[in-house]
Amino acid sequence: MEMEHHEEQSHFVKRVVLPSGKTIEVVYFKDTVDTAAPVQEVVRHAEPDQELHLCFDCGGELVYPVEWEEAGPENWSVVLHCPNCDVCREGVFGQDTVERFDEELDRGADALARDYKRLMRANMAEEIGRFVGALQSDAILPEDF
Ligand SMILES: [Zn+2]
Repeated sequence: MEMEHHEEQSHFVKRVVLPSGKTIEVVYFKDTVDTAAPVQEVVRHAEPDQELHLCFDCGGELVYPVEWEEAGPENWSVVLHCPNCDVCREGVFGQDTVERFDEELDRGADALARDYKRLMRANMAEEIGRFVGALQSDAILPEDF
């Protein structure tokens, strides 16, 4: 049995020559072809391993995930947002990439919490105290802002 493929604009014709010598033409329309596409063309492949907390556009290190979604058995579709330049991007990433991102996020959250506590203990508490004191004594006037 011989087969020939003819690519055309909206469909392709597969001409099949039967052992008897008879030729039949099978027409595949594009929709049919797409539906019948092999599975690996539907599953989105993961992007190369990379540091997801780093912003592509501004190089900021505070990129965080807006959405997580399974994309196949080992991949994740993640929507990322950079608070620095307000850019969003979406991509499919492998399990390892996403796990390291997760660890980085944990570290980032820890660092933020530490910074916050340190600020609270040091000058912030002092400044809040001064501010409250000034408010109570009417020492802050509109021109101070
Ligand atoms: Zn950015």
